[in-house]
Amino acid sequence: MDIFIQQCQEIIGTEYVYIGEVDKAPYLTDWGKRFTGQSKAVLKPKNVHEVASLVKLCQFHKIAIVPQGGNTGLCGGATPDKTGNSVVISTARLNAVRNLDLENAAITLEAGVILSHAQETALGAGKLFPLSLAAEGSCTIGGNLATNAGGVQVLHYGNMRDLTLGLEVVTPNGDIFNGLRGLRKDNTGYSLKDLYIGSEGTLGIITAATLKLYPLPCSKATAMVGLTSVKSAIDLIELSRMKSNANLTAFELISTRALNLVTKTTKNFDSLLNTTSGWVVLLEFSSMEDGTNSQARIETLLSEAFTSGLITDAMIANSIQQSKELWSIRETIPEAQLKLGTIIKHDISLPISALPDFILSAQVKLNDLYPNASTIIFGHLGDGNLHYNLAPNSPELSEWIEENRSSINQLIHNEVYKFSGSFSAEHGIGQSKRDELPQRKSAVEIELMRTIKKALDPQNIMNPGKIL
Ligand code: FAD
Repeated sequence: MDIFIQQCQEIIGTEYVYIGEVDKAPYLTDWGKRFTGQSKAVLKPKNVHEVASLVKLCQFHKIAIVPQGGNTGLCGGATPDKTGNSVVISTARLNAVRNLDLENAAITLEAGVILSHAQETALGAGKLFPLSLAAEGSCTIGGNLATNAGGVQVLHYGNMRDLTLGLEVVTPNGDIFNGLRGLRKDNTGYSLKDLYIGSEGTLGIITAATLKLYPLPCSKATAMVGLTSVKSAIDLIELSRMKSNANLTAFELISTRALNLVTKTTKNFDSLLNTTSGWVVLLEFSSMEDGTNSQARIETLLSEAFTSGLITDAMIANSIQQSKELWSIRETIPEAQLKLGTIIKHDISLPISALPDFILSAQVKLNDLYPNASTIIFGHLGDGNLHYNLAPNSPELSEWIEENRSSINQLIHNEVYKFSGSFSAEHGIGQSKRDELPQRKSAVEIELMRTIKKALDPQNIMNPGKIL
């Protein structure tokens, strides 16, 4: 047997070194089944010291490392390349809750803790950990940090970077950087945690994090409303902020095509807004005041929005169960799209004010050049973040859409930049957007990024071929 594999087995135990093709297979293809790679082994260390020893060993043998959490990333960042000269280091067994510090409203979790488990642990202590996204039952805290994940409550609580107080990281030469101090203020030079957040495994392996906790809201209210235009939805954001007393915690836009896709192709939903308008918004108010406060405020908002003609239809969830069902409609969209054949996804952000013009301008160009494809639009409107996806008009056109992927990407991304936006709002760069990055950032920015990468990882063993 390969000496490297033997040494891995000595460090973490034979049963945690997967070398058989069947054992490795689930770790070698991404969630969207777009990328497949090869790997010498999948390694499952149990603690930070085992991670550090494995990284030192990989340095010695010049073997590349692909960190992997829940493998729900949407840019191929956790999938190795096809050379087979790498190992996947899975954080699945780094899953301890190290500390719950209620006085400092902080929790320290290892990188492999599943996001929903982090939320439940906080809830069990009467606190809120607010990161929330559709993959929360599978994605990990380490993956959330490495991609600077966003989700549905960013407009109120911020993204993963805003929720992080400190990190523990194994650097590319196997040193352990312990930055788990959990201070709210710490201006002692470069913010290394901010460098690692969003680095997609290219600068080291995040092994633990100290994260912020928040008070649990006393009341919540969820509503789904119909609107005839994105401009109306934008006007509704500002009105919602005012009427919620600055407690607007979610504001999701869904095109009726995306809504119909979910309701017609997946399970039956009892709670459903029957609207013929082109757009739907799912919004949520939270409040620290008494139990009916949010409900009363959302009713006032909707009545005013009707009177002023901003919305055409509305339903307010009348129970926690109904609220969950409305959220489940939103969360099922990514899965429902897969039934349409090949999908071309764009995770874009724009200044909110520019969204109506962008949507119109992109649609005109698409109608002209790609009449065989239709858009499925949904996303976190409150953050100016749209998932602007394209599906073939029939599954038989999947091959055609695949052949046109790169020109469709260019068309949409050019439109995004014409309106001063970004081609990656929350999913990262990974391998799917790597080749386009130099076109979208200035030469100075790319050079600074390369300089950082070379300085920290001169042998390029950390997740090569991702981002840069
Ligand atoms: P992985 O997929 O395993 O890895 C992602 C990247 O992080 C890779 O580059 C990997 O190398 C790196 N990485 C993983 N763990 C570590 C570590 N410990 N140290 C260093 N690098 C590491 N994202 C959003 O932001 N908002 C959403 O609303 C959202 N919704 C989604 C809905 C669905 C249905 C799906 C499938 C995905 C969604 N995503 C969303 C994308 C994805 O869930 C997030 O990117 C998530 O943060 C990835 O976590 P993970 O543990 O699965 O990471």
